[in-house]
Amino acid sequence: MPYSHLSDHPVHSRNLTIERCSCGAPVSLVKPSRHLAAAPWQCLRCGSVLLASPQRRDGSEFHGGVRRSDFNTIYKSVTPRADVSPSHLSDEDIEQLRNCTKSVELPSHELRQSQRYAVAVPLNVVTLNEKFCVTGAPSLAYSIDISTGGMSLLYPKATEAALYAVEFADGFLNIPPVILRPIRCSRLGSGFAIAGDFVCRVDY
Ligand SMILES: [Zn+2]
Repeated sequence: MPYSHLSDHPVHSRNLTIERCSCGAPVSLVKPSRHLAAAPWQCLRCGSVLLASPQRRDGSEFHGGVRRSDFNTIYKSVTPRADVSPSHLSDEDIEQLRNCTKSVELPSHELRQSQRYAVAVPLNVVTLNEKFCVTGAPSLAYSIDISTGGMSLLYPKATEAALYAVEFADGFLNIPPVILRPIRCSRLGSGFAIAGDFVCRVDY
């Protein structure tokens, strides 16, 4: 696991740890990154879900103020799930999607090939704040294009979210959710095109 060395990542520095939930309760989490996949954790006080990583103390995970949650906790309110058959996707489409999302784990300097690949698939998207805490109900969105460094998507409403958690709605694709940091948002038809960089993958 060449990317899991955390020795040169000061996880205890203030700006990389999440010490408080948005409700003010103390939590012990670390902001996820390309080196550190996120997972859903629920604040024991307010029930908010944070997509972050556990802190480690003395070599083991320390779960202060949170319990491990489930992605369904976030997405159960999306009804209906995008009812789109995968048959319109070519094998190449699916392979490109998998390759691009797999690269989320690579350090930026290894992202040599970052050509954009246009592919429209349905997504369930939730907004996150800077603490990686879920801030709203999921929305149905569509991918516009994807590369090894990020993706752009068609989002139904105006938003100024710090981050987005993006789940590929079509379970057939079997692609893990990713977290996206927006760099550009522009009007597109009746919705908004949001382009961003991958932050990390989400394990659940
Ligand atoms: Zn809370």
